Amino acid sequence: MSWTEFKREEIHLGGQWLGADGGKTLEVLDPATGERIGTVPEAGAVETRRAIEAAHAALGEWSRRPAAERAALLRNLAAAILANQEALVELLTREQGKPLAEARGEVGMSAAYIQWFAEEARRLYGDVIPSPWRDRRILVTKEPIGVVGAITPWNFPSSMLARKIGPALAAGCTVVAKPASQTPYSGLAWAALAEIAGIPSGVLNVVTGSAREIGGELTSNPLVRKITFTGSTSVGKTLLAQGAGTVKKMSMELGGNAPFIVFDDADLDRAVQGAMAAKFRNAGQTCVCTNRFYAQDGIHDAFVERLSEATRALRVGAGLDAGTVIGPMIDDKAVAKAEALVADATAKGGRVVVGGGRHERGFSFFQPTVIADASNDMELAREEIFGPVAPVFRFRTEEEAVERANDTEFGLACYFYTNDLGRAFRVSERLQYGIVGVNEGLVTTEVAPFGGVKESGFGSEGSKYGLDDYVSVKYTCIGGLGL
Ligand code: NAP
Repeated sequence: MSWTEFKREEIHLGGQWLGADGGKTLEVLDPATGERIGTVPEAGAVETRRAIEAAHAALGEWSRRPAAERAALLRNLAAAILANQEALVELLTREQGKPLAEARGEVGMSAAYIQWFAEEARRLYGDVIPSPWRDRRILVTKEPIGVVGAITPWNFPSSMLARKIGPALAAGCTVVAKPASQTPYSGLAWAALAEIAGIPSGVLNVVTGSAREIGGELTSNPLVRKITFTGSTSVGKTLLAQGAGTVKKMSMELGGNAPFIVFDDADLDRAVQGAMAAKFRNAGQTCVCTNRFYAQDGIHDAFVERLSEATRALRVGAGLDAGTVIGPMIDDKAVAKAEALVADATAKGGRVVVGGGRHERGFSFFQPTVIADASNDMELAREEIFGPVAPVFRFRTEEEAVERANDTEFGLACYFYTNDLGRAFRVSERLQYGIVGVNEGLVTTEVAPFGGVKESGFGSEGSKYGLDDYVSVKYTCIGGLGL
């Protein structure tokens, strides 16, 4: 299929493609040009309720299927993604803006997550626990939690859903997904892919529209037993509060403020290479992007120089253009935020070494930027930048670096570079983060758990732990056995 065939302008409920009840639509814009790509339905609480009912109706049959059957359908889903990879890549780049190479990586990751959970579906083991009673036996089984509401952001519109749809379907749950309004097509494409894969109607439903209404229904409807959310910490807190009324199980993949520490003993070439990947991927708009670089006294100046040199060489352009490394930001609001953070930093003594403002291409483009002499009183020390701006802070001792790295309410990803093995363990054990890259700036893989601590949320996506959030543990005591 072509990318235009995957650009579905209808929501998907119980196996049917439909418009919003009142016919209202939302526009979807190309972030590189501001041109309209198309529209999607502006659905609300009523359509969401119907989607939840469809997911609930499909739950019994889906959850009772042998795991091997669900696994086979998930393998079909992974195959459908790979068979249509280039179409999905173009769709993703057009609505999100990231360079084609990055979109290709993301769609590949989506297939990898689905494949992984197809494999994990068959390993949802329980336990037989040694009984303290002679005539009773104790069984522990894992059961699908039920209907799952999944809400995802615009920065990884394909793979963030893969991490939720994969484990949910593997465990025997059914799903109502709500993709971000700025990138809904990669979300709706999941419903088209599920059809191709032969996944039964109602197992995966996708609704676009009013976040407040859809989120309100998903968090309050008693048929939904779990909410899985990736997005900002502030929206996560709202959903946690809303879900409390019906005591839903929750997983929260929220914001970050990743530190990247370079010690004097680090391999500087490697550190700069890792820094570029950890900072500038998706134009700095990933939850694991470096927010704060900490460079130790001895290598500080050399690190700033080399980071700046590499940053200067980054090619900015539309995601669809060959050779583009940095695409546009998602919208003008994101550009304005980057601009304001740079202005605040320079007013407080920051030195712009590279970039520092809007890119000459205009619209949503921002120059890849390095700011030296960064200090703790700057807003970018505390706020998630979510843009291609790299502030560098100077530090003296290991203790100081760890303390400053931990001085944030967030705890998603962190990175540090050292060639001292003892320091590698010492620092990694002291950093209060869910993900640690030691001499690595790019660590995401479907086989490892992805998730944060503190206000970055809770729950693990991917890995053998990824299914835990989608099951409940049942204890069955069988008595009267006459043994
Ligand atoms: P966002 O504003 O929180 O939006 C995320 C999703 O939540 C979108 O689908 C949005 O819908 C929806 N939403 C907004 N308000 C809602 C409400 N009141 N009720 C229910 N849903 C609501 O975040 P974003 O700006 O798109 O994404 C960036 C954030 O995501 C950053 O903080 C980033 O660090 C975080 N993130 C975290 C991870 C992780 O794994 N930890 C991964 C990627 C991104 P609309 O689009 O319709 O507004």
